[in-house]
Amino acid sequence: MDTGRLVTPPIPATLDFDAAASLLWDVIVIGAGPAGASAAAQLAAAGRSVLLIERKAFPRYKVCGGCLNSHAVALLARRGIDAELRAAGARPLTALHLHSGGRRAVLALPPGLAITRATLDAVLVRAAIAAGCAFLPETTAGVEGEVTADAGRGVTLEQSGRTRVSARARVIVVAAGLGHQALREVASVHDVVAPHARVGVGTVAGPGVVTAGDGAVTLAVGTGGYVGVAAVEDGRVQLAAALDPAYLKASGGATAAVRGLLASARMTLAPDEGGLTWLGTVPLSRRVSAPVSHRIFVVGDAVGYVEPFTGEGMAWALAAADALVPVALAAIQTWDHRVERQWQLFCHTLVTRHQRRCRAVTRVLRYPAVAHLMVAALSRHPGLADVLMPGLTGNTTHEERA
Ligand SMILES: Cc1cc2nc3c(=O)[nH]c(=O)nc-3n(C[C@H](O)[C@H](O)[C@H](O)COP(=O)(O)OP(=O)(O)OC[C@H]3O[C@@H](n4cnc5c(N)ncnc54)[C@H](O)[C@@H]3O)c2cc1C
Repeated sequence: MDTGRLVTPPIPATLDFDAAASLLWDVIVIGAGPAGASAAAQLAAAGRSVLLIERKAFPRYKVCGGCLNSHAVALLARRGIDAELRAAGARPLTALHLHSGGRRAVLALPPGLAITRATLDAVLVRAAIAAGCAFLPETTAGVEGEVTADAGRGVTLEQSGRTRVSARARVIVVAAGLGHQALREVASVHDVVAPHARVGVGTVAGPGVVTAGDGAVTLAVGTGGYVGVAAVEDGRVQLAAALDPAYLKASGGATAAVRGLLASARMTLAPDEGGLTWLGTVPLSRRVSAPVSHRIFVVGDAVGYVEPFTGEGMAWALAAADALVPVALAAIQTWDHRVERQWQLFCHTLVTRHQRRCRAVTRVLRYPAVAHLMVAALSRHPGLADVLMPGLTGNTTHEERA
């Protein structure tokens, strides 16, 4: 992905690779997305020694619609970060234009923000560093399988062209997102991928490539998947889609697949200067077999993900990071079955329940005729939006022919 257009300057490491291995950290956080950077910032602010490890150089692109719902904005506001996002060019979001089968429902949204993940995640990592967290980018981390009797657990760190080193921590937070490999040595934990899972694709296009409504995110639902379009910083446009792999293949690539979905909403995708660079994801619908293991907490998408339709992924990642902080602080003192049970319970009651609803909505969307009916129904019965997309929407205001 061309990050040359990004306004955010690179974030250098705050410590040397070898220095990371010389300490027993209170917490090592693997992955600097919203879940990892938020947990790291709050644990460092509580006076703990925290090492935040990220595989990529930051800022980096990540496949995402970049829409923060009102819940996510409120969580960031509690930490004083929302104003910084607005200053960095985040665009207000107050409406959802939902297209299907030639119909459009215009839904009011509780106020959210649209921003590229390059900018958002950079702001969150800078906040973590400001709170006292050590940051090690361009480093791939993997939790060691062996459990020793001492006060910590090992994490292997790898950087291109360097000899692997092993760092230790009292608590390890795995916030490494979808399809990560950070737990591949840990026999008790593995990923369960849903059959027929969709894949994600995304890009940031220049102004004029596609028309994004002012203050609105457009969601075009069609046969083969759906695509979200939102204006972000500097008039650029964020495109992110969840696609059936067969539809993606039959379309001949991401540009054609997304163009097809947009056409069903009577929207056009003009050729971007130099072409569009798409990034893809692993199959989206998946969950981890256990969100906790000895001295390990799993958080964010790494616990499980369904599909982006309900637009709650980042809000959940941020909320889960907040919930993890007191549990991790207790676990730094003493790792016992109580902290394990606490985290298991949180993941089960909140994450699993939420994902069940999200799974039901995305199952319905697989049937285009039902999706068309849903859009028609949403426009007539505003209350349904709260049931179908409670993380995202407010009230339906009116229906129009697209
Ligand atoms: C197509 C699509 C559209 C979406 N649109 C929206 C939207 O509009 N709004 C919304 O709220 N959510 C949306 N989401 C969901 C959202 O992107 C995720 O829920 C969110 O990013 C989860 O945050 P996270 O911190 O758990 O993981 P991530 O953001 O994935 O961060 C994980 C980080 O870990 C790093 N990492 C991975 N492995 C390692 C390793 N071994 N060592 C070190 N680092 C590692 C990765 O490089 C990455 O930076 C969308 C998702 C998709 C696929």
